[in-house]
Amino acid sequence: PSVPDIEALQHADVAQLLPMPTGESDKYRRGVVGVVAGSARYPGAAVLAVAGALRGGAGAVRYVGHAAEAVIARFPEALVHGGPPSKAGRVQAWVVGPGLGEDLDVVQDVLDSDVPVLVDADGLRPLDPSALRDRAAPTLLTPHAGEAAALLGMPREEVESARLASVRELAARYGATVLLKGSTTLVAAPDEGRSPVRVNPMGTPWLATAGSGDVLSGLAGSLLAAGLEARDAGSVAAYLHGLAARHALTDGAPITAYEVAGALRSAWRDVRES
Ligand code: AMP
Ligand code: MG
Repeated sequence: PSVPDIEALQHADVAQLLPMPTGESDKYRRGVVGVVAGSARYPGAAVLAVAGALRGGAGAVRYVGHAAEAVIARFPEALVHGGPPSKAGRVQAWVVGPGLGEDLDVVQDVLDSDVPVLVDADGLRPLDPSALRDRAAPTLLTPHAGEAAALLGMPREEVESARLASVRELAARYGATVLLKGSTTLVAAPDEGRSPVRVNPMGTPWLATAGSGDVLSGLAGSLLAAGLEARDAGSVAAYLHGLAARHALTDGAPITAYEVAGALRSAWRDVRES
């Protein structure tokens, strides 16, 4: 039997995949997510990625980077660390990249770990396909079309005009699960087409606003830390992110990325009550 090219998660699938605490849970078993993001120039990216991570159901969020003051001012529950990520203590998944700017040595430090890693934004710039293929743990890349074009060495228009082929090609070439953001968000696994590409049915163009991708990466990283497979973490995160945007859009007026992060709670409730 042939595998369909694409599939979409439904509300009920997402409800089943959401990580829920049980009587045996403690914060470590719920998952600790490490966020390596932000810089003196882009402190807000760190705040937004941490916001997404905290709303994703992980037991704790460790922040490593140069925007700790901004992070703590908004989220006193975040744990902050100086020094390299590898010295920050135990984490079950890393998110690296949003707003990093030029300080990119941390990307390899995180990729050297043996836990799932999500790479976004500036973190995508130094990626080497062969190093990624050698990782034992899963890697999830979350480029928009421009970042995907740079990873593939082709013009952005070519990615835009062949999004399905591009996401599959990226997954194969980098040996990673790839979430290609944009008008339709696609998630492909590095399995030579054995599994269908997931299409997100919940997107909204209101998400095309600065910082919304940073919220998505924190959220997907949190789901990785809770133990979801990379393909599920990416597609559930995209679904909740779109649903949160719809919830935030109560009066039809423009929404901000920070408001999308805040609305993740009501998106979560919506999915659970279905
Ligand atoms: P970034 O490009 O990293 O800022 O992320 C932007 C976020 O907005 C991603 O989640 C995209 O999928 C989403 N997005 C951007 N443009 C659109 C669009 N036209 N329709 C739906 N979602 C979009
Ligand atoms: Mg981005």
